[in-house]
Amino acid sequence: MDCLFCSIIEGKIPSKKLYEDDKILAFYDIQPQAPIHFLVIPKEHLDGADCITQANAEIVSYIFSKIPALAKEAGMTNGYRVVTNVLEDGGQSVRHLHFHVLGGGKLNVVFG
Ligand code: 5GP
Ligand code: ZN
Repeated sequence: MDCLFCSIIEGKIPSKKLYEDDKILAFYDIQPQAPIHFLVIPKEHLDGADCITQANAEIVSYIFSKIPALAKEAGMTNGYRVVTNVLEDGGQSVRHLHFHVLGGGKLNVVFG
């Protein structure tokens, strides 16, 4: 399967890593949309948040349990935003589940 984020996990494409363990990888977004912007992805490929089920949802709580410490480590001292885009209308450009973590300054409220 040809998946950009699977290639990043495999090290075939370089990334600026923030955190890695056996289940997840956190790395900085190549085109930051905020002063600090990193992505958290499961190592097991899931297409997107539309594919979360009772059977695979554990990885989502695992990711969310890691985000507070990662945000702190990345320098987000006064809050942050977690976003996941889903399919075309949601603006998803990489079809591998990922959570954007944005911060490092006051964010605008954006819908669309
Ligand atoms: P989406 O648009 O699917 O919600 O988010 C995909 C994100 O992946 C975008 O913010 C984009 O900048 C980021 N991205 C795309 N290609 C690469 C890459 O090769 N390396 C890194 N670090 N980020 C990437
Ligand atoms: Zn993938």
